[in-house]
Amino acid sequence: MENLPFSYIVGGQRRRPGLIEDRRILDDKILKRYYPYSISEHPSQPSCSLGQVDQLPDELILYVCLELTIPSLLAFRGVNRRARILIESLEPYRQVLEHCPYIIGACVATEAYSFSINHLYNSLITSECATCGNFGEHLYLITCQRVCSTCYLKKKAYLPITATAARRAGTSNKRLTQLPHFTSLPGRYTAGKLMHKKRTKYFDRTAVEQEADPALWTKATEKERDFGSVEPVRYKAIISAPYLGPSAGDVQWGLTCLACSEDMQSPRYHILYSQAGILDHLKDFGPVRRIGPLRYGRLSLMHVKETA
Ligand SMILES: [Zn+2]
Ligand SMILES: [Zn+2]
Repeated sequence: MENLPFSYIVGGQRRRPGLIEDRRILDDKILKRYYPYSISEHPSQPSCSLGQVDQLPDELILYVCLELTIPSLLAFRGVNRRARILIESLEPYRQVLEHCPYIIGACVATEAYSFSINHLYNSLITSECATCGNFGEHLYLITCQRVCSTCYLKKKAYLPITATAARRAGTSNKRLTQLPHFTSLPGRYTAGKLMHKKRTKYFDRTAVEQEADPALWTKATEKERDFGSVEPVRYKAIISAPYLGPSAGDVQWGLTCLACSEDMQSPRYHILYSQAGILDHLKDFGPVRRIGPLRYGRLSLMHVKETA
């Protein structure tokens, strides 16, 4: 058996912002229209103040801005040059704009009003899927939770619900406006690639269910369609999101263990890892060895537990 260098054990980083080719999530062609934002490299001095807002110390204004939703933050940024310089000094805003500006575009385009720039940044500096704890390579844009592909394709929590179904479950129109929601974009979702032209408002299933009468909830959802991994609705609120690691410039999109990803029977077949996570994985399952050439039905790489 051959000992392998680290680069042969770990698959290349999945770097695919905004779109997965075979299973389409948010369409990046549409998103490009919505993120024409960049940090000004040579900002000129502001000629106007922010009026009464300027009576507050900058620290306090920035503290409030951190809790603004992304569309509101961008609206404030557009007030004048002074507001733009202030917003551009926010570290979370700078980091998102530098590493994944399309997510800001997606929030504006989908009217995702349920979370702040601070919330988004905190999701980006967390690597774990909110449901299973494995590396999550996506964000669920309705609540800004980090999620892995296994969970968003299987778990009911990531199947958003329409306003009609939510009303059937007893949620009032007034209450619906306060629950986490977003508006889908036209695009082709899932491998079937049918064009979805209509924009639809979807609500977070968990939030609606928590408030619904259990009997009404069962009735409202009993005939619901869910084709799992080929259900277009499951892809509409999902966007790729890098994990921003602890050191500057550490941007991770997830690593695969080539030994596990060759073995379709393995429960770890689909799992991605952070750089620290893959080292723990190798510690737990043993180093990877080449056991022969890759042939159909036969593994070429395997974990081999070292015996003392
Ligand atoms: Zn997960
Ligand atoms: Zn493995």
